[in-house]
Amino acid sequence: MKISVIGTGYVGAITAAGFAKLGHDVVCVDVDQRKVDLINSKTPPIFEEGLPELLAEVVPSKLSATLDIAKAVRESEVTFICVGTPSAKDGSIDLSYIRSASAGIGAALKGKTDFHVVIMKSTVVPGTSDTVAAVEIAKASGKTAGKDFGMAMVPEFLREGKAIEDFFEPDRIVVGTSDEKTRQVLEKLFSQFSCAKLYVDVKTAEMIKYASNSFLATKISFINELGNFCKTQGIDTYNVADGMGLDTRIGRKFLNSGCGFGGSCFPKDVSALQSLMKSKGFAPMLLDAVMEVNARQPAKMVAIAQKRTGSLSGKTVGLLGLAFKPGTDDIRDSPAIPIAEALQKTGAKIVAYDPEGMENFKRKFPASGGLEYAKTAQEAIDKSDVILLVTDWPQFNTLNYGSKNVIDGKNCLDYASRKKVKNYEGICW
Ligand code: NAD
Repeated sequence: MKISVIGTGYVGAITAAGFAKLGHDVVCVDVDQRKVDLINSKTPPIFEEGLPELLAEVVPSKLSATLDIAKAVRESEVTFICVGTPSAKDGSIDLSYIRSASAGIGAALKGKTDFHVVIMKSTVVPGTSDTVAAVEIAKASGKTAGKDFGMAMVPEFLREGKAIEDFFEPDRIVVGTSDEKTRQVLEKLFSQFSCAKLYVDVKTAEMIKYASNSFLATKISFINELGNFCKTQGIDTYNVADGMGLDTRIGRKFLNSGCGFGGSCFPKDVSALQSLMKSKGFAPMLLDAVMEVNARQPAKMVAIAQKRTGSLSGKTVGLLGLAFKPGTDDIRDSPAIPIAEALQKTGAKIVAYDPEGMENFKRKFPASGGLEYAKTAQEAIDKSDVILLVTDWPQFNTLNYGSKNVIDGKNCLDYASRKKVKNYEGICW
């Protein structure tokens, strides 16, 4: 099929490259010339394992990038919307990118005569695809949803760091459609995937994404609350999680206590759902608690460092790990951000290191007298009085921490590595 993909960030780049690899003709669109040029030169605009190889294979024969949304949409049958949906200042969802992408699609559809399917892949609160995106498209095109164009919602479940694996072998595909013609196009589009497929209406598909992310965030805050308590009782929270995880009703995943969840999805998605529920007169008591527990965890890292070293003023703290998880350069809402801010308030000097996330972190925290970026993790350790492990990059296991104070916020060090560190303390263990 001929596919256009609007937005070439973490989701759009993978979606475009993945469908190109499956044999479709894909054009991706971005407003950022740098990303367009990078893709056309077979260079990923983001760090994701396997993406350089995939782009090398499909660009330019099956995939190209452009700034020209009109041409890309006109010359395709299906358009994916993959633009960002960040939090507005009040925590609600900011739909400005969705509106502008939809208006661009609508303007392109004006002169098009054949049926076109628009698939929302951005995470949007229930109702958005039909009452915002489809409305903007209809307004700009003069066409009617369900008759001239189809509006569908296929939530994205990829995990950064495992995104390519998740594209080709997803656990499930959820497809939200409201008319038969659109459903048939999506059945054809996803026919190469053998996983479970759930066909629902558009609003339900939108809600499934929020329900999934909010549930995973809840698991993390649950185990963090328990972990904080377990530590005071001399109980290893990871052993508790192992025991719980053996119960197939519970499962072991997302029961790793630590310095809190971050990233481009959980914080903003839980916040958007809270905000939506409140706007409809519901009190999201559980989600309020999930966010509150999460917000408290980063400060615990700094508190432990202070407890172990006395005042941090004038001391050097090694911040190891800036990305919100290993395998990505994404620092959005990473726990490293509130930790760095809290450290700066104590008067500590920071030496930061991350294998992939440093360039993004530098944009938020430029190097200064109080913050430097190390070339290697070992350099950060050697220059520091105390080390905070904030991302569980596997390579942090094999470093020489000597007798420095090491505060582990992500269970980075396995049991064998911990034994080699004289002054080790976990945030919840
Ligand atoms: P991103 O910020 O990395 O990428 C968005 C891209 O869209 C940017 O390159 C931006 O320049 C481009 N863009 C914005 N407006 C545009 C327009 N009008 N036309 C063309 N391009 C435009 O975002 P992301 O992480 O890829 O997330 C995209 C959506 O997918 C969000 O709703 C997010 O919640 C959801 N999602 C993300 C992930 C993830 O792991 N990153 C996982 C599941 C769902």
